[in-house]
Amino acid sequence: MIRLPSFSAPLLALLVLAAPSAAAAEAGDILVQAGHEGRPASCAVHHVKACNLGTGANGAREREWTAQVADVTTRVLRDRGYAVLRRPADYDGSDTVRAAVFLHFDGAAPCASGASVGFPATTSRAFVDAWEGRYRAWFPYRFVGENFTKNEHGYYGFRKVDAPQKMLIEFGEMTCPAQFAWMAPRLHEMGALLAAFLMEQVPR
Ligand SMILES: [Zn+2]
Repeated sequence: MIRLPSFSAPLLALLVLAAPSAAAAEAGDILVQAGHEGRPASCAVHHVKACNLGTGANGAREREWTAQVADVTTRVLRDRGYAVLRRPADYDGSDTVRAAVFLHFDGAAPCASGASVGFPATTSRAFVDAWEGRYRAWFPYRFVGENFTKNEHGYYGFRKVDAPQKMLIEFGEMTCPAQFAWMAPRLHEMGALLAAFLMEQVPR
């Protein structure tokens, strides 16, 4: 429950109209998108035809995990003075940042997958290598590859942001029981790891 000051109705309407849309084009240091977050509700609003709701396992949804990790990363970065654009799956406008990351967990035939990354050709090799090195040192399961699906290489989110570095991260496979059990208690640590990587790559 949010208590509003007692504005008159016309004044309140004016304030609402004048408020910047949460989804307007903005500039910042880093964009963090939580994959599938806000769906399915956001698909109709934004005319998204392929409304991919993400994977899940044991009652946990991918879009809840991506939001948890994204929130930790965002909080750590903001505490360090970074301007973070925290985005859900669907939003209007396009942003400008120095690095953009799009967070996902994979779903597959059990244990056929693992961690991976996707990125456009403009993203630097050094950026990708730095993440892979850091993540492989922490994640004890398979790293299945780079741009191994068309979805990862041509991710729609890449087109909504202007950034020299853009990368989709699959942290691991939720549908693999061993990976699920390992990741479930480490979502906070995962978000902190991603923040440390971004601070290294995008110095203040
Ligand atoms: Zn996903």
